[in-house]
This record gives sequence, C-alpha cells and structure tokens, in this order.
Amino acid sequence: MANKVTILIVEDERAISNFISTVLTANGYRTIKTETGRETLSLITSHCPDVVLLDLGLPDMDGLEVLKSVREWSNIPIIIVSARGYEREKVEALDLGADDYITKPFGTSELLARIRTALRHNSKPETGDSVPSTKFTTGGFAIDFDKRMVWVDGTDIHLTQIEYKIVALLCRCAGRVLTYDSIIEQIWGPFAAGDNQILRVNMANIRRKIEKNPAEPRYILTEVGVGYRMSDAE
Ligand code: CA
Repeated sequence: MANKVTILIVEDERAISNFISTVLTANGYRTIKTETGRETLSLITSHCPDVVLLDLGLPDMDGLEVLKSVREWSNIPIIIVSARGYEREKVEALDLGADDYITKPFGTSELLARIRTALRHNSKPETGDSVPSTKFTTGGFAIDFDKRMVWVDGTDIHLTQIEYKIVALLCRCAGRVLTYDSIIEQIWGPFAAGDNQILRVNMANIRRKIEKNPAEPRYILTEVGVGYRMSDAE
C-alpha cells in the first residue's frame, strides 16, 4: 500500500467538512477530521498530517490562535478556509505563517489546486545544496531567472528592474498568494511606505506588458484586498 498523503480537515460545519473529505478521498488522499482547535493541536502531533485545512471560526478557539501555536513548533503547510469578505483576517493569517487560503464557497478543482501547491512548496527545501529552478513557465508566459528575461508567447518583454523583481518574486511563489505588504517589503525593504500605491502603479505597468487584456489578467491574478498570485496553471 502506498503511503497516502494525509490531510487534516479542521472545520465545524459538517456539510463543508464532509464535502472536503469526500473530494479528497476520491482523489487519493487520506483525511482526518476534527471540529475543534484543541483537538487540532493534538492530531498534528499524533498523526503528522501533510497539510492542514484550517477553518478560522471554530467553536472553542480562534483559528488564528491555533495557527499561532502550531507555527511555534511546526512548518506544516496550513491552508486557511475563510468566508468571503474577511480579507483582513486572511492577511493576518498569511502574516502569521499560513501558506495560503481558500474562500468559501469553493469548488473541487480550486481545493485540489491549493493542496497541490502547498505540498509542492513544502517538498522544496528552503535552503540547502539543491540547485534552485532557473526557469518557470505558465501558459504562454516564461521567465529565466539566470538571464533575468521574460517572454510572453515567445516575444521577449522589456521590464524595468523593479518590475522584473516583482514578477520574479511572484513566479518563485507561483500558485501562492503574496500579500501587498510582503511584496512591498521584499522589493523596497522594511522602511517602504505602508500604502500600496507604488505596487499598484508597477503592477499596472507589468500587466500592460505581459497581459493581452490587463483588465482580465491571466498570469498575475489579483486577490482583492489581500495581494497577488502568479498563476501556475499548465
Ligand atoms: Ca466555522
């Protein structure tokens, strides 16, 4: 028997929990379910799941508190399951070390894509001897990190240095959302102004260069109120 990837589902709404479990089981994952924050902590210790899907509104504990205490001792991928309209909560969760979030109601393919992304990023060593990937492609978009070049449908795209840095950062985290603040901090440093204006201006310019229709981007997606996500669709 193959050792199945195990997903811990932390969700107190039975219908959602059962839906997730059915989808994941049908796709070859093993699932464990709990409805409380306290049990979450002990299940992570006892079952060592590969990914945690964490609802933030739990009956006994704030999901953010659960996240905080897990992060004190574990790097296990945690995907927040959040309701629409709770953008501040999502940003806070990402800042506290959540890997990603998924907004209710979500579909099967979105759920599976988030889990695959979380597993992929977890299997890549953060540091170490392995050679980091020098290229990334999605659809007609391609980037070569060594040559610092970007192509769309075979045409090379001229980006300014800042624009290239933003695009490269998003590509290295493809499939994952990066918050506005974390992008600004990584590009302009910790003392950059706290508003997103400079990032929005650069993003508008980047999209004019790489997207066919900048109003409906295919490569760099906007997560309203949270940040940006580089598509990692094949
Ligand atoms: Ca809930």
